[in-house]
Amino acid sequence: MDYEGFFEAQIAALHDEGRYRVFADLERHAGNFPKATRYVDDDTQEVTVWCSNDYLGMGQSDRVRKAMHDAIDKCGAGAGGTRNISGTNHYHVLLEKELADLHDKPAALIFTSGYVSNWASLQVLGSMLPGCVILSDELNHASMIEGIRHSRADKVLWKHNDMADLEAKLKAIDPARPKMIVFESVYSMDGDIAPIGAICDLADKYGAMTYLDEVHAVGMYGPKGGGIADRDGVMERVTVIEGTLAKAFGVMGGYIAASQSLCDFVRSYSSGFIFTTALPPAVAAGATAAIQHLKQSDAERNKQKERVAKVRAAFDAIGIPHLSNPSHIIPVMVGDPVKCKWISDVLLDNYGVYIQPINYPTVPRGTERLRITPGPLHTDQDIDHLVRALNDLWSQCALARKVA
Ligand code: PLP
Repeated sequence: MDYEGFFEAQIAALHDEGRYRVFADLERHAGNFPKATRYVDDDTQEVTVWCSNDYLGMGQSDRVRKAMHDAIDKCGAGAGGTRNISGTNHYHVLLEKELADLHDKPAALIFTSGYVSNWASLQVLGSMLPGCVILSDELNHASMIEGIRHSRADKVLWKHNDMADLEAKLKAIDPARPKMIVFESVYSMDGDIAPIGAICDLADKYGAMTYLDEVHAVGMYGPKGGGIADRDGVMERVTVIEGTLAKAFGVMGGYIAASQSLCDFVRSYSSGFIFTTALPPAVAAGATAAIQHLKQSDAERNKQKERVAKVRAAFDAIGIPHLSNPSHIIPVMVGDPVKCKWISDVLLDNYGVYIQPINYPTVPRGTERLRITPGPLHTDQDIDHLVRALNDLWSQCALARKVA
C-alpha cells in the first residue's frame, strides 16, 4: 500500500471541503488575557481571543498562578506515577474533596482530562453493570459517544432534550434492566440547556441512573459554581456529575462526583483511570484555587453575563444572526464552510480578532459558525472592534442579515 499517498489524499479531501484545521500559534498574556501574541511565519501579531473556553479568565488569575507556582516549588513538576503507584499527591486528595463539596456529593475522582473522565467512566459503568442500556442524548459530546461505544453496552439514542422521546425510549426497555441516561447540561455548540429536573423525574419513574456532563457549566452557573444542576437545585438528584478543570476553572483535568461506592468502583476498575500518570500536583493545586475562588465570588460570572448581553445586543443592532439561547455561548451562524473559514482568517489577519471557525463534523454541515465566548475581561473597546470587524466582513461575504 502507498501509505503516504493515502494520508495525503485524506488531507486533500479536508482541504477540498474547506474544513482542514489550521491551529493559531498563540502565546496568551497572563495578566492581560484575552490578549495574546500570535506567531505567524517569521512574524508576530497582537490578537484578542474571542473563542476561548477559559470562560472566566481563571487561567490567568493571580490566585491560581500563585497556587501553581507554590506547588511546583514544594513538590516539583510531575506526579511521578499513576495514582496507585506513587502518583497520588496530597494536592490530588485536596482537589477531590473540593470537588465533592462543590457538587454536594460524598466523593469525587479526578482524571487527566474531561474527555478521559467521560470515556473512562462511561466505559466501565456500561460494561460492568449487567445488561445495562445506555440512553444517550443524540447531541452528546464525542468523549461520551466513545466511552459508550467502548463499553459495548446496548445504546439507545433519544432526540435532543426531548422528554417525550426519552420517556418513550425508557418505557420500551425491560424494567428489570439497569438503565443510564447520559446527557449534558449546556450543549457547547448551540448553547442550549437540558431540563435536568425533568430528566431526573423520568429517571426516578423508570429506575434509571443519570450521568450528567457539566463541562461547559461548572464554575459558571449556580450559587457556588456547581453548574446548571447547582443553579436548578437538583445536584443531589443526579447520580454522576462529570466536569472539567480546563474551562471555567482555567487549568486542566476532568472529574466525576458521585457516591462513595460509585467513585470507588470507577477508581478500582477503570482502565482509563488506573493505567495513566496522575495530573501534575501543580495542576491540582491551581484547579483547587480556582474552584475555591469561584465558590465564593460571583464577580466573574456577573461580569461575563453582562459582556455576553452587550455583544448579543450589538449583533442584533446590525443584524448579525446568532442563535438565541440561555447560556454564555454565542454561535454566529454562517452556514457555509468556506465562507466561515474565510471570515475567520480575515478577522485574524486583518483585524487581530481570533475566532476559530467551527465546521463539520463538530457541527452538522450547513450550520458552520463562529462560536463566540465573551468573557469578563473583554473591554468595551474589544467589543466595538469585534462588532465593526464582523459588520465589514458580513457585507463583503454578502451574507444575509437578520431583521429585528
Ligand atoms: N464534554 C464536553 C461536552 C466537551 O465539550 C468537552 C470538550 O470540549 C469535553 C467533555 C472534554 O473536556 P476536556 O477538554 O477537559 O477534555
